[in-house]
Amino acid sequence: MRLRVSIGVGLAAVVALAGCGSDPVPKSGTGKADTAAQTKQTRAAKLAAAAKVKANELGQVPVLMFHRVIRNPTTTDDRTPEQFRADLERLARDGYVPVTAAEFVTGKMDIPAGTHPVVLTFDDSSPSQVTLDEVGVPKADTAVAILREVAARHPGFRPVATFYVTRDMFGKATPEEQAQTLLWLKQNGFDIGNHTRDHVNLRGKSKQEVEEQIGSIAQQIGALAYVKPVTLALPYGNQPSHKEWAARGKLGNVSYDHSGVFLAGYTPAASPFSRSFDPLGIPRIRAMDKKGDCAQFCSTAWLDWLKNNPDMRYTSDGDVTTVAFPKFKDPFLRTTYKTRALPY
Ligand SMILES: [Zn+2]
Repeated sequence: MRLRVSIGVGLAAVVALAGCGSDPVPKSGTGKADTAAQTKQTRAAKLAAAAKVKANELGQVPVLMFHRVIRNPTTTDDRTPEQFRADLERLARDGYVPVTAAEFVTGKMDIPAGTHPVVLTFDDSSPSQVTLDEVGVPKADTAVAILREVAARHPGFRPVATFYVTRDMFGKATPEEQAQTLLWLKQNGFDIGNHTRDHVNLRGKSKQEVEEQIGSIAQQIGALAYVKPVTLALPYGNQPSHKEWAARGKLGNVSYDHSGVFLAGYTPAASPFSRSFDPLGIPRIRAMDKKGDCAQFCSTAWLDWLKNNPDMRYTSDGDVTTVAFPKFKDPFLRTTYKTRALPY
């Protein structure tokens, strides 16, 4: 008897709860109108927020090209640890947040409202970029160590970058050590790109040679770290006779399919949402001070220019699902992104 009563009470409670929870229709039946009004309100709020930070997701993005970070530079492509630290400090001060080349070309730049994306790229896989000690900690003054150190000082400055790998493999000779380095990069949010196996000038090469150069290093990266590079950087910035060959090809049973191919010079890159964006030839900027032939076309000069021309620079609205921009720029929007557009 006692038992039956308690079951009865229990059931009643369940029924009452279910009744309460399963009552999705408001009394007046205006659910649809409410939802529409809400959507409209949300969009208005998004537009206002985008306008407030002057979001411009059709603006230009600096893709910086680094090589070695070494104490005694031997070429103008090298940066000292001090110079590299200063490069990053300036970016943080100017409101830039690093994104990877893969995030950039696929339009997945998830950075706070009002900030600007910057892509940090490192060519040639030299030990000065990443060398790990016996327990997998980056050695002092390597590029990754400096990047993490600056990021720790500037909350929100993401320690991410893209490394364009050749057979040099950060100076590691055995597959085990190569795997350690590539896996560390992957596990720590870094992006691994293709830079051809032998750092070959692809201009004038046959399709077979191009596929051999790109496909073989892709195979090696895949076997060592289970990574399929999303982008490629052309050695010397030179495109093959058919520029598509750098993007798509096949070697044996391994195919490569890059969403972006990077050049070596000399301007900021178009937004991936802009009609001006050419995924097969994305420009980069050499990391260099305003000196000699870098007076106008290297990083210091371009970062000054972008700072002085904020309406030309990419500024995020903080929402990775939308493409926000001043209405006037509408004709520049790539049709593939129309459904995500937020013109204000
Ligand atoms: Zn190179």
